[in-house]
Amino acid sequence: MQLIWLRSDLRLHDNTALSAAAARGPCVAVYLLSPEQWLEHDDAPCKVDFWLRNLRELSRELGQLNIPLLIRQAPRWDDAPSVLLNLCRQWQVDALHLNEEYGIHESRRDAAVARTLQAEGIEVRRYLDQLLFKPGSVLTRTGTYFQVFSQFRKVCYERLHHSLPSLVRAPHKQAPLNIASDAIPLSVDGFATPADNLRNLWPAGEAEARRRLDSFSDVQIEHYQSERDFPAKPGTSQLSAYLAAGVISARQCLHAALNSNQGEFESGKTGAVTWINELLWREFYKHILVGYPRVSRHRAFRPETEALAWRNAPEELAAWQQARTGLPIIDAAMRQLLATGWMHNRLRMVVAMFLTKNLLIDWREGERFFMRHLIDGDLAANNGGWQWSSSTGTDSAPYFRIFNPLSQSEKFDPEGVFIKQWLPELAGLNKKDVHNPANLGGLFGVVDYPSPIVDLGTSRTRALTAFKNLPSRQYAAVGS
Ligand SMILES: Cc1cc2nc3c(=O)[nH]c(=O)nc-3n(C[C@H](O)[C@H](O)[C@H](O)COP(=O)(O)OP(=O)(O)OC[C@H]3O[C@@H](n4cnc5c(N)ncnc54)[C@H](O)[C@@H]3O)c2cc1C
Repeated sequence: MQLIWLRSDLRLHDNTALSAAAARGPCVAVYLLSPEQWLEHDDAPCKVDFWLRNLRELSRELGQLNIPLLIRQAPRWDDAPSVLLNLCRQWQVDALHLNEEYGIHESRRDAAVARTLQAEGIEVRRYLDQLLFKPGSVLTRTGTYFQVFSQFRKVCYERLHHSLPSLVRAPHKQAPLNIASDAIPLSVDGFATPADNLRNLWPAGEAEARRRLDSFSDVQIEHYQSERDFPAKPGTSQLSAYLAAGVISARQCLHAALNSNQGEFESGKTGAVTWINELLWREFYKHILVGYPRVSRHRAFRPETEALAWRNAPEELAAWQQARTGLPIIDAAMRQLLATGWMHNRLRMVVAMFLTKNLLIDWREGERFFMRHLIDGDLAANNGGWQWSSSTGTDSAPYFRIFNPLSQSEKFDPEGVFIKQWLPELAGLNKKDVHNPANLGGLFGVVDYPSPIVDLGTSRTRALTAFKNLPSRQYAAVGS
């Protein structure tokens, strides 16, 4: 018997470990529920709910192939070795198959599982699946990890020219086994079920992920370059939650983009090239996670920025979290996050810079809050995005680049359509005042909207001074 251990690869198609397991003989699948670990990792309730909903779809699809999906409790990942060993003994499993996950805890967990099973003569096979490139396989000439995205991308391009990662064939139907699939729980303790309107925005299942990918790569990808920065437009693929849970693969995304661009990834339509670039940012940050393990230990990529005098300002942090900063673009973005579990990329950068620069609050506070609310929360991308925005990370925004939320608002939401969608209390304002109701100097008092919690000019100077006072701004050395 072959066992496939599903984690962040909740799909039937183009699933390397699943296809490999099924090709070797009768196969059974398992998923571990690890609520204590998930809480420790700040996984958002809406994300856990998304996993459960996708598992339900996947269980149904696997059932049609006679592959049972079992559910086991392993509250902490330390429990995984014994839970899996018991299962292997119960069903006389010869080999466990898994798609690699990256991050310190994930790697430790998988190493412990491999040790325990191998000691009992059970084979453990791991596959590259979550990414196009295995972390550690795209390196500088001297064998170190890249710290600058454009250089990393150049090597990715060379690799892709040489050989494209191909799609894996889906498993065939197997003879029925005498093993029943387990029911997928409707919820997991510690993670509240999200509101229906949030759930309805993110239907579960591969068919939905495929539909999004097809409609994006057929039409929208052409306009991606020009529309991706405007939060009022549906300019991006909205695939991140599906990619993070593995409901669709990076290979499937890459192939769809290439098909829309005559097989080109470096030239041709700028929309397709830019979108593939984003897929490569995803690869880059996974490389960083593995190459610089300190970033998964809540440490700054640039160690010298650990000395920054972050402010302890709980009230301002709460105002940011609760969308009442008095800056409409920030509050609208935070409301989008709280209501949908997702935020537009441009706004992720704007709110992150506002928190870490204008409020001078530690990026780790923002990283954690995002993780607790994002349906697409992913340690590598989230940490990378936060450290980029706060100028503590790789290839960062230089510390003197501080987005002005008002000019960002005027530039990327010129008519205030996005702001008014999320802050209907500002619907009556014209397209100039909507970005900064404080300009109305109190005349606007009829509407219940707070004054800005911070002065953008003086807070900018404060941030510049704090960064300038750091002992040195040299690039971090390789290592953890
Ligand atoms: C502060 C901050 C936090 C972020 N946190 C996350 C996170 O937890 N999870 C996450 O998936 N993305 C994160 N991102 C990256 C990006 O904002 C989202 O991937 C994107 O908004 C998802 O929308 P989409 O699927 O429509 O993206 P598209 O524009 O259609 O991009 C396609 C895919 O490429 C990947 N991608 C795009 N941009 C990035 C990027 N900058 N870094 C890594 N991958 C990228 C995503 O998988 C995305 O689905 C963060 C960015 C910032 C600035």
